[in-house]
Amino acid sequence: IIPGGVNSPVRAFNSVQGEPVAIKRGRGCFIEDEDANIYLDFVNSWGPLLLGHANVKVVKAQKKQASYGTSFGAVTLKEDKLAKLITGNIRHVEMIRFVSSGTEAVMSAIRLARGYTKKKKIVKFSGCYHGHSDSMLVKAGSGMLTFTENIERASSPGVTEGAVQDTLVLKLDDDASVNRVFDEFGTDIAAVIIEPLPANSGLLVQRLEFLRLLQEKCKASGSLLIFDEVISGFRLGFSGFAGLHDFSPDLVTYGKIIGGGLPVGAFAGRREIMQHLSPTGEVYQAGTLSGNPMAMASGLATLKYIIKNDVYQKLDDLAIYLGKKFEEKIEPLNQALDFNIQLVQKNSIFWFAFFPGKDHVQEIRSVEDIWDGAAEIYAGLHRKMLEQGIYLAPSAYEVGFLSSPMTEKEIDRFIKVLAKSLKATDSERKNKRREK
Ligand code: PLP
Repeated sequence: IIPGGVNSPVRAFNSVQGEPVAIKRGRGCFIEDEDANIYLDFVNSWGPLLLGHANVKVVKAQKKQASYGTSFGAVTLKEDKLAKLITGNIRHVEMIRFVSSGTEAVMSAIRLARGYTKKKKIVKFSGCYHGHSDSMLVKAGSGMLTFTENIERASSPGVTEGAVQDTLVLKLDDDASVNRVFDEFGTDIAAVIIEPLPANSGLLVQRLEFLRLLQEKCKASGSLLIFDEVISGFRLGFSGFAGLHDFSPDLVTYGKIIGGGLPVGAFAGRREIMQHLSPTGEVYQAGTLSGNPMAMASGLATLKYIIKNDVYQKLDDLAIYLGKKFEEKIEPLNQALDFNIQLVQKNSIFWFAFFPGKDHVQEIRSVEDIWDGAAEIYAGLHRKMLEQGIYLAPSAYEVGFLSSPMTEKEIDRFIKVLAKSLKATDSERKNKRREK
């Protein structure tokens, strides 16, 4: 009665060849399924739950607002307060508009960029996910693709050639193709959109120089730089990746944490650009539930809690602890395994990179660098960890998130289960090979 049994595909556990568990409730860093199994949760609803599940302050704010009414389709003070909290604390955000998902935020930011610049083309990078609006559903081209051959690259049936013909896809970490695309199409590029910390095809930490090159090129050709901070916004710090590394993107998109677990997205940026939105400007954008007081109350309570409780410091310390424990307890196992596992981290986001052998370890900066044997190893590992009460994302390409209720005790348990599961996965693979 629901296609694939899910309302978003990755939840089906297809890529780990498993059966999804149905979650009943969550508290802190734990979730419980309908069969009363408890898991330590590293998915955190795919990022929004920086404070874990059912944070007391957030729940209180949600309950209070629910009793006042959930949506009016009219101006409320809650949206004003959330906007003030954000614009007051993030240098590159002068104006913000709330929507109901990250997809909507990106779709609207792109329309605004095109409307503002009066140019057509959008440059994106393979491996970066920007939601499922048509113009962003473009297949990763093979490395240096010919820009004029972008027509047959829609990643999904139902997306027309017309919808993707102005989307140019480049490889991450590739300065030459950035230079080339600007040489060839510079005058018609409305925007370059990138996850400054790509976290949807593994965790592909970029060279800052690469991001600076994008900024320079955009500036020189009158194109906008859009940072998609749906994952990194309010996670790496209050002002996201841009704030942490001193970038000033023209537009930025948010989602996830900004709604404290309720459906919210936002796009934001310089006043001069944002004012082109209707009703002050000519670029149309709207939404029945945009900025509804329920979501605003939830986001406000979350962001206030973060500021008051120094949550980033705590999470960063925990991330360092995770890195240290991985080095101590997991790294040495690589000597005996048939593959190599490395931990890639950026603050409270982490990802396991796999390599075919000890000598193959390398930095992974583009999706093309990811070893295609990783998925099979991860599938085995995922199953074993789930059986021992660790809930990781059901795909080798998805990252894990720490949440603030976690302590060193939970990290110790995670590492212990990981060590055991790695050994079991390795011997399972070796046995299979022997049988063949
Ligand atoms: N942009 C990025 C970087 C994302 O990670 C996602 C979703 O994971 C989106 C956009 C789309 O957000 P949503 O799923 O809320 O539509």
